[in-house]
Amino acid sequence: MTTPDWRDLGLTGLLSSADSVLIPLHVSPDGDSVGSALAMAAACRHLGSRATVVSSDPPPETYRFLAGWEDIRRPEDLSPPFDLLLLLDCSSLSRTGRVRELFDTSGLPLVVTIDHHRKGERIGDYVWVDPAAAATAEMVFDWISDAGLPLEADVASALYTGIATDTGFFAYPNASAGTFDRAAALVRRGAVPDRIYRKISEDRPLQEIRILGRALEKLQVEAGGLLAWTALTREDMLEKAAGPDDTEGIVNRLRSIAANEVAILLVQTDSGHVKISFRSRKKVDVSELAGEFGGGGHARAAGATVAGNVDEVTREVLAAALSRLPQTEGDHRS
Ligand code: AMP
Ligand code: MN
Ligand code: MN
Repeated sequence: MTTPDWRDLGLTGLLSSADSVLIPLHVSPDGDSVGSALAMAAACRHLGSRATVVSSDPPPETYRFLAGWEDIRRPEDLSPPFDLLLLLDCSSLSRTGRVRELFDTSGLPLVVTIDHHRKGERIGDYVWVDPAAAATAEMVFDWISDAGLPLEADVASALYTGIATDTGFFAYPNASAGTFDRAAALVRRGAVPDRIYRKISEDRPLQEIRILGRALEKLQVEAGGLLAWTALTREDMLEKAAGPDDTEGIVNRLRSIAANEVAILLVQTDSGHVKISFRSRKKVDVSELAGEFGGGGHARAAGATVAGNVDEVTREVLAAALSRLPQTEGDHRS
């Protein structure tokens, strides 16, 4: 770093004065994490800094079509120092998984946070959090536009991917008029919506459909359908040859049951943990529910990872969810 006082620099100055920028994906990376990171890496390069995108978990194959995916590195391949750590779509440093272990806490470089989660640790020397943003990729798009940086078709595709995935392809209530404006601008810059939709929602691996089948077979409903849940064990995953990325879309399918308010997917992981995904429709703030289990997220989509036995964790999670359901059944839909 050559800067005497980063406080005067703003985001653009900060990034351009860093020689090396490390951009971690969050654990279980989604389209917003990958899209925002690849777009910011391109922007950093335009500003003259070396940017490296790193992922604690294997980068999901789904996003292989995005330029720069092949260059995503794993923490074990890297060694500090880096001048700047750019946290995108992460509500805490721990969301970067093993990337955090590259630094001891006292040894953190300058940290910049750009995020749209309502709650979080907010670590950073420069923190920009906008819970009204539908995706971190929206914020990145705004900054790239304001900074007057080039926005090539590859970057437009990455940002469109982030916005589309965090809004359920513009179907969730977080998709605002501003979201559509940005998406239109990205299409003008070369993002191709039908191609991106196909890559993400079709062209799926067979084992993903098979594990969905198992999850639906095991589906249970409580409270007259207000709560729908399913739990996948290691055996289920092994039998269907499914990996962690293959369960991503399942919880949204549970939410699509007509009576549903809260949908929960529990997946036992090989490390003796249970990964929980929460979705809700209108009333229940699932980020608070996830918070009870050490996780977090958004009001309508949240998650947590808990150590322990899948049956016990399931019991605890169901009890917590049932206690948060609207009291009068049947009056929750409009
Ligand atoms: P998922 O169910 O894994 O798709 O996660 C939904 C959302 O919940 C993510 O986009 C994150 O914002 C959040 N989330 C998931 N897991 C965690 C966690 N362990 N801690 C904090 N936030 C999480
Ligand atoms: Mn995310
Ligand atoms: Mn996001």
